[in-house]
Amino acid sequence: MVEIPDSHPRKKSLLSRQKIVEGNDKGLLAESAMIAHGRGEAFDYLLGERTTESAESAIRESVARLRAANNPVISVNGNTVLLAGKKALRLAAFLRCPIEVNLYYRTPERVSGLLSLLEKQRILVLEEPEPSGFEGDWQESVRNVTLLGSSPDFRIEGLEGPRSHCTEEGIGNADSILVPLEDGDRCEALVNLGKEVIVVDLNPLSRSAKMATVTIVDEVSRAFEGMLAELIADSNRVPTDWDNASALRDSLVEIAEFLSKS
Ligand code: ATP
Repeated sequence: MVEIPDSHPRKKSLLSRQKIVEGNDKGLLAESAMIAHGRGEAFDYLLGERTTESAESAIRESVARLRAANNPVISVNGNTVLLAGKKALRLAAFLRCPIEVNLYYRTPERVSGLLSLLEKQRILVLEEPEPSGFEGDWQESVRNVTLLGSSPDFRIEGLEGPRSHCTEEGIGNADSILVPLEDGDRCEALVNLGKEVIVVDLNPLSRSAKMATVTIVDEVSRAFEGMLAELIADSNRVPTDWDNASALRDSLVEIAEFLSKS
């Protein structure tokens, strides 16, 4: 790994880029993953690489909804596992829900590679201090997070080919799905199945951002961090009558305000 000095103003962004490059070298990503990451970087620049106020409200709403759900699931792709896999595991331990590796360009090799990486990340999470405010046995909760995706036995209606495959235990049975960096078609198909879809996407103009029930316009690692903080704060917030189109407009205003000051 190339050493990036602490003083480098773009250190965080470069480290993320490095994780994606290394994941790609290990065969964990589809070819388009780097393009998706680059698009995300561009929008993050426009957002000022920070969690905006509208993203904070979306984070609070998402946590309230995932807590209220009967069968929540976290659906992850390669970029998410590489950038925020440990945080996804912590979220899943808090929410006591499974994580499903669900790839648009699914191959058995990539799914099993990402599941192995999540198992390694689980060991790292177990070695780290437990978060304050967690009720119950943290270690057991982390160990109990079910990792799904290797044996798809369910199809998302309205989609064709491998991108429609998922597991019944995870996405099939879920009433609420947290899905970062999702593709617009799949997001739409999940919404059409009557599921609540919580998307994390830096691009407030993407089809997924527009189709989702709640969109967190933020970088996935920062968004998960914010969700963990909300879970730790244990605010007992209840879901509201969320207006996602209005929240997306707020994020565009925040971009415009940031640009006008730059
Ligand atoms: P859509 O079909 O929804 O219009 P798209 O074709 O624009 O999506 P994809 O390539 O399917 O995009 O998915 C990548 C999306 O993920 C982009 O909108 C990009 O902004 C976003 N993205 C990339 N990296 C990150 C990240 N680290 N955190 C959050 N969002 C990200």
